[in-house]
Amino acid sequence: MADVVLKNVRKSFASVDVIKGVDLEAGHGEFVVFVGPSGCGKSTLLRMICGLEKITSGQLLIGGEDMSDVEASDRGTAMVFQSYALYPHMTVFENMSFALRMAKTPAAVIERRVHRAAEILQISHLLQRRPKDMSGGQRQRVAIGRAIVREPKVFLFDEPLSNLDAELRVQMRVELSKLHNEIGATMIYVTHDQVEAMTMADKIVVLRDGLVEQIGSPLDLYTSPNNRFVAGFIGSPR
Ligand code: ADP
Ligand code: MG
Repeated sequence: MADVVLKNVRKSFASVDVIKGVDLEAGHGEFVVFVGPSGCGKSTLLRMICGLEKITSGQLLIGGEDMSDVEASDRGTAMVFQSYALYPHMTVFENMSFALRMAKTPAAVIERRVHRAAEILQISHLLQRRPKDMSGGQRQRVAIGRAIVREPKVFLFDEPLSNLDAELRVQMRVELSKLHNEIGATMIYVTHDQVEAMTMADKIVVLRDGLVEQIGSPLDLYTSPNNRFVAGFIGSPR
């Protein structure tokens, strides 16, 4: 059973159709990448999966359970945003533990999870710093750490590396792949960067104007794109 299943999912804002009937699955432990041009609906799909937006119609299952009436906080998902969205007045430790404190998680459990996540992300030495005293890459690690400590079944990443410089992007790409191997959770990752998609994905979902153009492994899409749009996006010669 796939961890995340969308069946004919649609989303309209007022009378504008933004997601026009999307079917897709993310298998347990799979690294699924959504690619497509700006405005095609990638963020809207993520926001519906994590519960920040309601679906207009269709069906959304996580862990086999219909999510229609399940609050964002109870879905077993955690989202990492592009713009970090850290609390500036809190230390790294406080930022990473905030959601757990809100959920009344015991202090000893919080300690253990934050230290473990900090270790994975190599930010153990930064736990008492505040965001303004850190680099962009370090802040992005904190944002990822905030998701890890919640131990979600499904991680959702919305262009997490797009604010970083090229060199750091390459480094973080490798580290995120390592993180995925280490914790084995299902990950859905949005990017408009073809190289990120091709190097990180088990499965790529190519989106265009609220619809799926093609789903396949990086190799599938490269060697047999369905059409010129997919070929152009993936960078294969056809
Ligand atoms: P992407 O992340 O692929 O760039 P988005 O999911 O952010 O695309 O947006 C898809 C479309 O939905 C865009 O045309 C955007 O303007 C529209 N949209 C997104 N959120 C809203 C909203 N809250 N109200 C109205 N339109 C929205
Ligand atoms: Mg977006």
